[in-house]
Amino acid sequence: MSFTTLGLSAPLLKAIEDQGYSEPTPIQKQAIPVILSRRDILAGAQTGTGKTAGFTLPLLELLSKAKSTKTKHCVRALILTPTRELAAQVGESVETYGKYLPFTSAVIFGGVKINPQLTKLRSGVDIVIATPGRLLDHISQKSIDLGSVEFLILDEADRMLDMGFINDIKKILAILPKQRQNLLFSATYSDEIKKLSDKLLNSPALIEVARRNTASESVKQAVYPVDKERKRELLTYLINEGKWKQVLVFTRTKHGANKLAGQLEKDGITSAAIHGNKSQNARTKALADFKDGEIRVLVATDIAARGIDIDQLPHVINYELPNVPEDYVHRIGRTGRAGREGEAISLVCIDEHEYLANIEKLIKNDIPKVWLKDFKPDPSIKAEPINQGGGRGSNSRNRPSNKASQNQSQNSSGRRRNK
Ligand code: AMP
Repeated sequence: MSFTTLGLSAPLLKAIEDQGYSEPTPIQKQAIPVILSRRDILAGAQTGTGKTAGFTLPLLELLSKAKSTKTKHCVRALILTPTRELAAQVGESVETYGKYLPFTSAVIFGGVKINPQLTKLRSGVDIVIATPGRLLDHISQKSIDLGSVEFLILDEADRMLDMGFINDIKKILAILPKQRQNLLFSATYSDEIKKLSDKLLNSPALIEVARRNTASESVKQAVYPVDKERKRELLTYLINEGKWKQVLVFTRTKHGANKLAGQLEKDGITSAAIHGNKSQNARTKALADFKDGEIRVLVATDIAARGIDIDQLPHVINYELPNVPEDYVHRIGRTGRAGREGEAISLVCIDEHEYLANIEKLIKNDIPKVWLKDFKPDPSIKAEPINQGGGRGSNSRNRPSNKASQNQSQNSSGRRRNK
């Protein structure tokens, strides 16, 4: 199936061709025709599935067909995202896919000066991509008029709720015109998402590309049980041994992210940390350096990493497991994108066994547990030994020895043994 059968016009097909996409991803195949038929959708799709193009392309198509009613301060399509990074990236996608169409768009988020945003909004823009907080600032300053919004897109809605944006979202919904098309994207489902979608969507088409709360299948996952004190050493070893060039590492805290980035630098591995305490400029620079290969490791907290979109990001490391199991799904969704293989490794110490159990319950799968010769794990978790340097490219951990298989079947969860 090619993009030409989806009902998109020539300027969009040309932009897609420029991107080198040969065929639509499953979410694009399903979502594009439905959105073009003017239905609301509820889409369960993780980042990495091509969801951004899945809503941006039909949105641009519909906007280009309808007559522009653009007047001062007014907006035709509103895309809400949980983080600045995601807003910036969706903004880039709008520019990329809309480059042969005469659209104007504005990305508005907090943490940067408001004046350039005011200038952009003054003459009205077709598409606004915004985080909820800064959007409300503009609404209260009357620098934006949402009275003629025809399309509302909530991207990573689950994350917006996790981040406590529900009241902001409600305030925004209250001032939007009733007559509009709504698209809701969420990587995971919860009762809150259901409540929100019931309120927001009008007989939506349900589209689901990844199974509920499961991790992407193109991601090879492994757990390395290891003492807390030896995590840094193991991480440095894996990066050096595997000659990894681009690694996204997750820590639970901002302080932990800073500390680890500093330690890796001391180990001779170029690194930077991104988290909410860093200025927007510092975050943008770190991300750009990481994308350009200037630094090998980006250490991030969950919130800062949302929306990071890097083509072919091969390695994601959970230096610490998240205490919210859904975050694990989000984290590893940073790799194995658009059909490419990725690897997600979790370094798990004894304090984190409970988190691991919850994650495995959520993804309904046991994650293979492995260890390297020089990094013997604590005995409370069953793991199989793998060859030294068994990072990416080594299949050894996928072929457990008989002994290890027996162990695994006796204690298939790999969790704490009964003592
Ligand atoms: P997303 O899920 O929107 O974050 O997209 C993930 C990545 O997939 C982005 O880097 C896109 O550039 C890429 N992508 C989107 N659609 C396609 C496609 N049809 N073929 C190949 N790559 C794509």
